[in-house]
Amino acid sequence: AHTPIRRALISVSDKTGLIDFARALAERGVELLSTGGTARSLREAGLAVRDVSELTGFPEMMDGRVKTLHPKVHGALLALRDNPDHVAAMQAHDIAPIDLLVVNLYPFESTVASGADYDTCVENIDIGGPAMMRAAAKNHAHVAVVVDPQDYAALLQDMDQHGGATCPKFRRKLAQRAYARTAAYDAAVSNWLAEAAGDFAPRRRAFAGTMAQALRYGENPHQRAAFYVDGSNRPGVATARQWQGKELSYNNINDTDAAFELVAEFDPAEGPACAIIKHANPCGVARGNSLVEAYRRAYDCDRVSAFGGIVALNGTLDGETARAITEIFTEVVIAPDATEEAREVFAARKNLRLLTTGALPDPRAPGLAFRQVSGGFLVQDRDNGMIDPADLKVVTKRAPTETEMADLLFSWKVAKHVKSNAIVYVKGGATVGIGAGQMSRVDSTRIAARKSADMAQALGLPEPTVRGSVVASDAFFPFADGLLAAAEAGATAIIQPGGSMRDDEVIAAADAAGLAMVFTGQRHFRH
Ligand code: 5GP
Repeated sequence: AHTPIRRALISVSDKTGLIDFARALAERGVELLSTGGTARSLREAGLAVRDVSELTGFPEMMDGRVKTLHPKVHGALLALRDNPDHVAAMQAHDIAPIDLLVVNLYPFESTVASGADYDTCVENIDIGGPAMMRAAAKNHAHVAVVVDPQDYAALLQDMDQHGGATCPKFRRKLAQRAYARTAAYDAAVSNWLAEAAGDFAPRRRAFAGTMAQALRYGENPHQRAAFYVDGSNRPGVATARQWQGKELSYNNINDTDAAFELVAEFDPAEGPACAIIKHANPCGVARGNSLVEAYRRAYDCDRVSAFGGIVALNGTLDGETARAITEIFTEVVIAPDATEEAREVFAARKNLRLLTTGALPDPRAPGLAFRQVSGGFLVQDRDNGMIDPADLKVVTKRAPTETEMADLLFSWKVAKHVKSNAIVYVKGGATVGIGAGQMSRVDSTRIAARKSADMAQALGLPEPTVRGSVVASDAFFPFADGLLAAAEAGATAIIQPGGSMRDDEVIAAADAAGLAMVFTGQRHFRH
């Protein structure tokens, strides 16, 4: 019932699989039309091909800006073969139908990612390609459109199953993919223009990404899922190289991202740091004189939760640290780099994934964060807020000591990455108790202290590590009770945003307990 594919227009920037595919089409009696570079490749491979410029009677011009933008091309793609008016127009203007369009676009996203200059990026905005893709996709009743080399094999298979034609269902699927591609492409251009203008405002942005990985399932096995990348090239799980281990799952990707973003808060110039994440919350974060020491100190915060966790490092994973990590089961390790020795240590661990990124992400860099709600999604700037010691306001009679101050700043960085209500106890550059995700701040304060006491007992320490620690609260204490609970647990200094109606009450309670307290003036809710 369907007419076989007789004529194909091929115009591709990514020439992966091109020759084999074009040869397979030629073998099936398909006439090939092509643009400059593509035609050259096909001819070099010995294939017969007709130039689009010969068809249109116009040369490719203006650095390729105008190649296929012509009624002879667009009429051939858009004409309804079963509409007498359209057929008459084709005859009147000597337009021969094109049954298959094979296009992939100028590599705009990777040109931007490579750091190319502005004009080069502009020149890599494809115009004729998307126009043809949209035309062919609109006319999917008659025309097949392939926009991804990964679909070449499926197209040939469909042709072979339908006597050289394609089936309507398959063409519809291809049309959907074509529009997904042009939408993502235009979104990438729009977002690049916004960023080039220094405008990261979450308003009036286009949203689309490119699917990087079909995931086996989502947060739970009954949910389907996929991983999309936004082309921003931010070092992290989206751009990492995976050296070994099973495919990352939805939850792995989410947790690995949380781990790496947290550890990136700790400048490697100030020494090694390690973060261990479980269910998107840290269960231990520490600095150390060496990476292995940082890992062990992070692990000692909450050894029970660290089991099956995700480990992020702010420096090159070395053999010794790798050996320490393999002492327990860990799902994923992510670091800017890994030595050959470290990779050998991990090689025997089939279930351990090792990811390297080449660099740490910049915690101050702008970007967007999304949250889905019924009927829409919320968009906001990513939380890149960071305080300097100079921003802090001492509100108590006693000012923090130098040691307390260092730990306060450390605990504040961690609190930013803990689900609210977040309470983080820190001593000597290591977390000793983390309370996360509670509905009341006082509960988080108590849970963190209790975990610290449990850990101290398990480690055989004479007293809870929380004694003599400092504490961070991601948002203000609405009442003095949370602060009193922290003091009771043994904290000596507090960092929090301030700004409560009852700040006076809270400050008075801190003074009465001999605590030092600083206000940041900045909140880090994370819900
Ligand atoms: P080629 O390597 O064959 O010279 O060029 C292939 C590329 O040109 C494809 O990525 C295709 O999308 C793009 N292209 C085809 N027609 C046009 C056009 O009229 N204008 C622009 N800017 N790009 C086109």
